[in-house]
Amino acid sequence: MDTRTPTPAEPPLICIRHLQKHYGQFKALDDINLEVRRGEVIALIGPSGSGKSTLVRCINLLEEYDAGTIEVDGIRVASAGNLARVRAEVGMVFQQFNLFPHMSALRNVALAPVRVRGLSWADATARAEALLERVGLKEHQHKRPSQLSGGQQQRVAIARALAMKPNLLLFDEPTSALDPEMVEEVLEVIQDIAKTGVTLLIVTHEMSFAHQVADRVVFMEHGRIVEVAPPQTFFHCPTSDRARVFIGTSPRPARRQPA
Ligand code: ADP
Repeated sequence: MDTRTPTPAEPPLICIRHLQKHYGQFKALDDINLEVRRGEVIALIGPSGSGKSTLVRCINLLEEYDAGTIEVDGIRVASAGNLARVRAEVGMVFQQFNLFPHMSALRNVALAPVRVRGLSWADATARAEALLERVGLKEHQHKRPSQLSGGQQQRVAIARALAMKPNLLLFDEPTSALDPEMVEEVLEVIQDIAKTGVTLLIVTHEMSFAHQVADRVVFMEHGRIVEVAPPQTFFHCPTSDRARVFIGTSPRPARRQPA
């Protein structure tokens, strides 16, 4: 299926053409075509094993792909040769928070801007403090990850990703490892970021969240994009049988309360 959007005035931030990825004999991604505009919020949904995580990992060069092309902001995401350029554009938030356990929240957020961007510790710390305040963790900034809840750790991980000022932020099931009562606080932070104009690609099983925050829903199955539509269309009158079944077996998107 060709899921390219009509050519907008501005070139797309992400441009994926005929992407293929195998794990051994198994085809994990099968002819993926997708364009994402600057500032767009995409919810990537589909059954487990459909290739969502593999797709976002290819965009960030965490996985090599076999065929096709990915460009982010005109940069070809291709090989280790341009890893630094790609990583400068693209931030990622994982299911597991992957924070350094021996460092405070503040240090976790400030580290990469110092090491990768060459900021002074003073500047990086000021930026980290502002970001931790933005994700509601000002009072916890000197704590280590083990002293924080899962939801708080994930919010630190989001602040850490934002500290690099990425043009594109990828989320790979950011709430899947959280206790249910912590899911909402993380989704609210992501929703807040969505309003700031950063382009977001979010793998999620949270259908209400996808409905509320996404500009478009991309539905995958068996390594292919089956359907792309605005959430109102996708959740209320999907065109593919497969999406209809998927929505029918997923919790209905109820309206979430505004943050
Ligand atoms: P999703 O994120 O939609 O659950 P994934 O992208 O994680 O799906 O996985 C897609 C398919 O690729 C699954 O069948 C999974 O088992 C397989 N897969 C993922 N990673 C690997 C790997 N490193 N080696 C072999 N198979 C993998």
